[in-house]
Amino acid sequence: MLTLENIKYSRNSKEIIKGVNISFEEEKITSIIGSNGVGKSTLAYIIMGLSDYKPNEGKIYLDDNDITNFSITDRARLGISLLWQEPARFEGLSVKNYLSLGGKIKLDDIKEALNLVRLNPDVYLSRFVDKKLSGGERKRVEIASCILLKPKFLIMDEPDSGIDLMSLDMIVDIMKHLKENDTGVIVITHREEIANHSDYSYLICDGRVLKSGACSDIIDYYRSTCDVCDNVNTPKE
Ligand code: ADP
Ligand code: MG
Ligand code: MG
Repeated sequence: MLTLENIKYSRNSKEIIKGVNISFEEEKITSIIGSNGVGKSTLAYIIMGLSDYKPNEGKIYLDDNDITNFSITDRARLGISLLWQEPARFEGLSVKNYLSLGGKIKLDDIKEALNLVRLNPDVYLSRFVDKKLSGGERKRVEIASCILLKPKFLIMDEPDSGIDLMSLDMIVDIMKHLKENDTGVIVITHREEIANHSDYSYLICDGRVLKSGACSDIIDYYRSTCDVCDNVNTPKE
């Protein structure tokens, strides 16, 4: 269980996260939905423990451990991973070397992960992670690396961004694979096709949890209120 308890976070004296309580379970898919600018990525960075994202108030627990002051490396070691909205690019490594993470991972597992992200291993193992990979291909390689880490919790920040619409079902298959392999999936998304497969949803508006529950209820509610939420979150002159 990964728990956020009354998390508050300010940046440049502007309060972005205003007291968030959320519990994520392992072996479950939890979706976080909400309009642009409500603080979803900020929440992801706070959970991952990026150095500029220490909460001003509140606690983060992994099971019974208070990890509020743990570094990103400590949290990664405990099994928390983040799929970035914008994937990084590691120039000069082959996909095979990039995914083998220092030789600790078996080739068969790498091939399985590449097949899951629908990149043919025969073609992609020897490709280099560089400018010649498209944004979509890079994102798939990043997703493959997250699968191979077998994290306890994986935060996926808009996993479909930079990937064509045809691949939404691929993202869903990947979330199901992660869940079957005991990873708790925390998926940040605008897409009903993705949120529909979550076990539980949180709707974020203006740095707060506006509503939580079964995803179909939350999506219906979001549809009827998102213009209100868009208004609140649009910066005023
Ligand atoms: P979302 O992921 O829901 O679109 P973000 O978490 O990226 O939202 O942003 C939440 C709010 O924090 C927005 O108002 C955004 O403008 C602000 N914000 C994000 N990053 C920074 C930053 N580096 N400096 C100042 N404000 C930021
Ligand atoms: Mg955004
Ligand atoms: Mg975001």
